[in-house]
Amino acid sequence: MGSDNTLSSRQQAITWPEGRRFAFTVFDDPDGQSLETTRLVYSFLSDLGFRTTIGVWPLDIRRDTNSGGETCANPEYRAFLQQLQGNGFEIGFHNAAPYSTTRDETIEALDLFERYFGKTPDVMANHYNAEAIYWGPARLSSWRRDIYNLITLGRTRNRFFGQVEGHPSFWGDVCLEHIRYCRNFVYSDINTLRMNPWMPYADPLRPYVRYWYSASEGNKAPAFLKTLQDENQDRLEEQGGACIMYTHFGHGYVRDGKLNPDFRRSMERLAARNGWFVPVTRLLDFLIRTKGVTTLDDSLRSRLETRWLWEKLFRGTS
Ligand SMILES: [Zn+2]
Repeated sequence: MGSDNTLSSRQQAITWPEGRRFAFTVFDDPDGQSLETTRLVYSFLSDLGFRTTIGVWPLDIRRDTNSGGETCANPEYRAFLQQLQGNGFEIGFHNAAPYSTTRDETIEALDLFERYFGKTPDVMANHYNAEAIYWGPARLSSWRRDIYNLITLGRTRNRFFGQVEGHPSFWGDVCLEHIRYCRNFVYSDINTLRMNPWMPYADPLRPYVRYWYSASEGNKAPAFLKTLQDENQDRLEEQGGACIMYTHFGHGYVRDGKLNPDFRRSMERLAARNGWFVPVTRLLDFLIRTKGVTTLDDSLRSRLETRWLWEKLFRGTS
């Protein structure tokens, strides 16, 4: 995609803290992630100097799950998360559990999160539960929603209800009260800020989320490594940009008790560069202090949504 297709025309260069030349972080969804994988990946990231965000499920397993992966009910896993948090990593929210929950269960999950980690979460990313908020077709507006329903064959219609008042899974008011940042659009470019220079942004059509952020595609290890290939790392630094990677460290990063060697090499290369490697909330808070929050109007919303729809159609981004 050429630069004429990006949304960067009005972008100002950001002066990063500590003389850093770019920013890089990750929001990692816990799907499929064992305690062993968590230990291996995060010990490695920590040793390299990265301080990123790990999404968690606070609740225990109460019924059939829609995904594998540890929950905070495992005391060993929890203790490791607390250790990570003490070491400068951020704990994020990936909804209450790896299964759809009621409003009361989501509230219980946030209480547990606070008990385990000292405060309710600042940042979240939706899991595909019934209580996912503004998810599926609700990620988009007007004709773009119709196109989304067409290309997804309507599979995600009437599945997500976090913002639907009166639904048993509704928790929009609770989300607004506690959570500052929620992820929506994922783009294929490594420089998330170049694709969406307005983040964090508020959307008056989606009032139960205070601020939204975007991310760069890295669903599983192959996509992560593609986005982080050497020339893209170089470009991120040249552009003085910011990358928020979307990934699942449970998918393809560890095999037979060993880290994926390509992941190891790519992260070592990135760590050697002069980047600002802080958790998602710290990065987004900094962006707000530097350039404020953008409130979407119809034209800006249309640009952001159309851009993502294009990527979804032709690049299959998340
Ligand atoms: Zn998930």
